[in-house]
Amino acid sequence: MIMQGGIKMSKKKTTVAIAKEAEIQDSVTKVFDLLGGVEKMLKPNATIVLKPNAGHAAGPETSVCTNPEVIRAVIHEVRKANPKKIIIAESAAIGCDTIECFKLSGIGKVALEEGVELIDIKREKDLITLPVRNNKSNISSVRIPRFLLEADHIINLPILKAHASMVFSCALKNIKGTVQDKVHIEMHKQNLAMAMMDVWYAVRADINIVDCIRPAGGYGPHTPVPLEVGCILGSYDPVAVDMIACDVIGLDTDKVDYFKVAAEAGFGTIDRNDIEVVGKQVKDVYKKLWIPYIGGMQKWPEYNILSDNACSSCQAMLALNMETLKAIGEYDKNAGKTVVIGRKDSIPEGIPKEKLILHGNCTRKWKDRGLFIEGCPPGETSMYMTIKEEIVVDGRGDQVETLIRPGQKADQPAWKKYVFEQAEKFYAEHKNDQGE
Ligand code: SF4
Repeated sequence: MIMQGGIKMSKKKTTVAIAKEAEIQDSVTKVFDLLGGVEKMLKPNATIVLKPNAGHAAGPETSVCTNPEVIRAVIHEVRKANPKKIIIAESAAIGCDTIECFKLSGIGKVALEEGVELIDIKREKDLITLPVRNNKSNISSVRIPRFLLEADHIINLPILKAHASMVFSCALKNIKGTVQDKVHIEMHKQNLAMAMMDVWYAVRADINIVDCIRPAGGYGPHTPVPLEVGCILGSYDPVAVDMIACDVIGLDTDKVDYFKVAAEAGFGTIDRNDIEVVGKQVKDVYKKLWIPYIGGMQKWPEYNILSDNACSSCQAMLALNMETLKAIGEYDKNAGKTVVIGRKDSIPEGIPKEKLILHGNCTRKWKDRGLFIEGCPPGETSMYMTIKEEIVVDGRGDQVETLIRPGQKADQPAWKKYVFEQAEKFYAEHKNDQGE
């Protein structure tokens, strides 16, 4: 309650809608209705861009990309507002072909069946350079396709999933897929959370509809383990919707650093007192999802892990890479090595260079004393490959072709088997924590 001129006034809360109906279409319609009704939310005769997550070439059964049936349901809903044009647009992850991603995810087929235009942002030539005011990262401007800036509405359509470099991916992270590879690569060279906020500054989605039908836990985005949850969430506020989506799957938001960054940047609220959940409540749809990226940094006692002050992104990378070493039979062989993540005032003396892994830009100060891997956070497989090979594996030179891709391919079967065994164990242990 706030006082204005002696009159008590209630501060307007941010609305997050949750729907869980038998059909995806009914859930999507319900969410739009709970947010005010699609005809009121969208201008008539508008150009509407739908931004799904189609960042990797993977089928709908993997939950790596937004469920194509969620996209179809949103198209049907949006059509009630008589738009001039509906576009589905994406710029897939670095090294991924967006058209291939549209095809394998099933999103291309939905676009064709519904008569909706598909745009690969990576191939767009008509770009506008936008300065980023008060930039949080080193990104002072971003080049954005003209059609995105001229659209009347951008509807953000993320899927909720575990993500190695950010712990989880949902509404906030999905907007990263509106820039071309050049900006994308720049973003990965510095603090990714801050860089994401700078992209949000340039590209603001006005509505966020979250696919939480089968969110992907596990070691997403590359080794996902989906879980049936069956709901859709929606909000005008990308921060609030991400917070509530995390509540739905039992992910502790206090352990994910970029919520604070997003709230400070003014993109939404992280204060649950300011969020009103309408429709279903969290307890009605709650399911504990296995996201093994944070918590328990002492899980690898055979190594000397110095992880104080590390943010959640580097913690997630640590979990991913240490577990990969276990899966491929390299963990015991390399026991005793020291891994440093996060900013430090000092590190132990006398460690042989090849046994000291300095992971991430926070450790740059000590770069001459060990194997320093650049990035904030560095690439997803850099740490375990560096430990295994005893040279810095960061993708420079021809490493991607000669070392990283062949290594990943060889390690994949053992890794997948290991992840699914761990998932089974987790869900057996948490069978009484799967909601009502
Ligand atoms: S290097 Fe790692 S710990 Fe340091 S800010 Fe970047 S992601 Fe966080």
